Amino acid sequence: MLLDKLKRPIRDLRISVTDRCNFRCGYCMPKDKYGRDHQFLKRKELLTFEEIEQVARVFVELGVVKIRLTGGEPLVRKDLESLIQRLKQIDGLQDLSLTTNASLLSAKRATTLREAGINRINISLDALDAKTFGQLNGVGYPVEDVLSGVKNACQAGFDQVKVNMVVQAGRNESSILPMLEYFIGKDVVLRFIEYMDVGNTNDWQNEDVFKAQQIKSLIETRYPIEALDANYRGEVARRWKLSGLPMEFGIISSVSEPFCGECSRARLSAIGEVYTCLFAGSGVDLRGLLRASDSDVSLFESIQHLWSVRADRYSELRSHQSPARQKVEMSYIGG
Ligand code: SAM
Ligand code: SF4
Ligand code: SF4
Repeated sequence: MLLDKLKRPIRDLRISVTDRCNFRCGYCMPKDKYGRDHQFLKRKELLTFEEIEQVARVFVELGVVKIRLTGGEPLVRKDLESLIQRLKQIDGLQDLSLTTNASLLSAKRATTLREAGINRINISLDALDAKTFGQLNGVGYPVEDVLSGVKNACQAGFDQVKVNMVVQAGRNESSILPMLEYFIGKDVVLRFIEYMDVGNTNDWQNEDVFKAQQIKSLIETRYPIEALDANYRGEVARRWKLSGLPMEFGIISSVSEPFCGECSRARLSAIGEVYTCLFAGSGVDLRGLLRASDSDVSLFESIQHLWSVRADRYSELRSHQSPARQKVEMSYIGG
């Protein structure tokens, strides 16, 4: 089995299919830094679907069993379903999922994604009231449209629908209880995520983090809760349920209780660079290799090498890092 320097296997691959998005969430693509003149990747720079499939096959040969499509906003990439159909056919791949802001998730689109082969879907939603949500997404996007997207996902027959809420202190912690209450009995797993210092454009400060313990305590002021066992070793969310109610939720404590020791995730950017940590400064370019030869041998050796020398554990070392450190942006590397 391929292990990195800290004995972690490679199990999980996030593929960013585009760096573009129709939202401007302040923690990811703040609108003052992603304005009209922002240079997004050009179409010809992006990996083609054939190339993404070729790289994904090699990752699966090396041990990856789960792939998640993300971005930017993955649903803005044209004909995403044909990529999904290609990936679905890879022998050894056990799970193919998608993360989306759901703005383009009509009932028809949810069904075509399901039929193409997505088995689980994560939808990002940071507040329920129109004003807060409109401010958080940076473009005044209506919350009802995202809630329709969640409903469409629930009706399309995915194995699981999760709703992810990033909690920022002083901005949306008052939405935690309304979100929890809204999703009771709706067959959705809600996950609260600590705001992370990904990239440099969001000007993250430690005080902006509403910590996992604060989220839990706030929920306990209104509801008794019970711990649930992890679904599998290395699950990043700590799982809970509201006692006596049909509502499971998770809390992801990426900042206050990092989980680097179990991190088995690689990321592939839309132009074919591999990143072995969300907080890396640069990636390793595979596109050159892909375009230089039809053979997978050099691709295989390159990924094998970069995983075998991996020693990343940024979150565990966060307090010792310089704030000036250059890190890749989440919208580019794939969240
Ligand atoms: N556009 C899609 C979406 O929003 O679901 C997929 C890409 S987005 C980068 C993936 C996830 O990263 C979203 O759930 C988003 O909330 C999360 N995210 C982005 N920046 C973050 C940050 N600084 N801290 C924590 N989560 C963040
Ligand atoms: Fe777009 Fe997702 Fe980033 Fe928000 S979090 S700006 S929806 S890529
Ligand atoms: Fe994995 Fe890097 Fe996050 Fe640690 S900081 S959990 S190594 S992505």
